[in-house]
Amino acid sequence: MIFYCGCVHREQNEDSDRTPKNIALPIVKRDTTLKHIYITFDDGPLEGSEDIDDAVRQEKINVNVFVVGEHVLSDTQMKNYYKLYENNPYIEIGNHSFTHAHDHYKRFYLKPFAVVADFQKCQTDLQIPTDYARLPGRNQWRLKNIYYNDIRSGASSADSLYRHGYKVFGWDVEWQHDGETGDPIQTVDQMVALIEKKLNTRTTMRQNNLVLLAHDEMFRNGWEESELKQLIDKLKAKGNYSFDHLSSYPN
Ligand SMILES: [Zn+2]
Repeated sequence: MIFYCGCVHREQNEDSDRTPKNIALPIVKRDTTLKHIYITFDDGPLEGSEDIDDAVRQEKINVNVFVVGEHVLSDTQMKNYYKLYENNPYIEIGNHSFTHAHDHYKRFYLKPFAVVADFQKCQTDLQIPTDYARLPGRNQWRLKNIYYNDIRSGASSADSLYRHGYKVFGWDVEWQHDGETGDPIQTVDQMVALIEKKLNTRTTMRQNNLVLLAHDEMFRNGWEESELKQLIDKLKAKGNYSFDHLSSYPN
């Protein structure tokens, strides 16, 4: 007579399970730490601003723009682009000065009081709704608990702006562009790698937070084909990136 019992016989178990017991299989661990990325666009409005406005609505991501007063007031189209920014809930507007130093930075920063006046003119003329500032040509930070200068020139001006109530934001990573064509220099994959490296090596200003600098003129070839869309899609696919406004930057 054969008796069936509910337990698994030892011999049977050993025969059927051929997986070696003491070899640890490699576990691919997905990084689930939430990373905050702050995409910032400088120098607008310019050709390309319309695409940025469109893009962030489609992608539903938060970005910051740092605008130049002279660019806004240069013609009707640029005024309209600025209005697009003002009416876009995904965009936070900051101040990038009225004149952009006319690209003569060293001379501009010799007179901190004139730098403050230049920012104040931009602030008033455009009715900029935040007190966020970014210095033309300088990566300098002045927040409650962050003080950073890339070089000395501009440091006194950054101090003066901070004393006048501005929060001065620099950046962790720049997506560089060709001065003539406006085209991005690094590829999308290079940028993704650079962003991940900065975050993983904890060399951003704040851990798990990364401020990316780009410029309006880089993405004027239509959103669907743009490198910016590719970058955003690749970061989104990782599943642990949050696209945030600088108003939530930890400080
Ligand atoms: Zn600039």
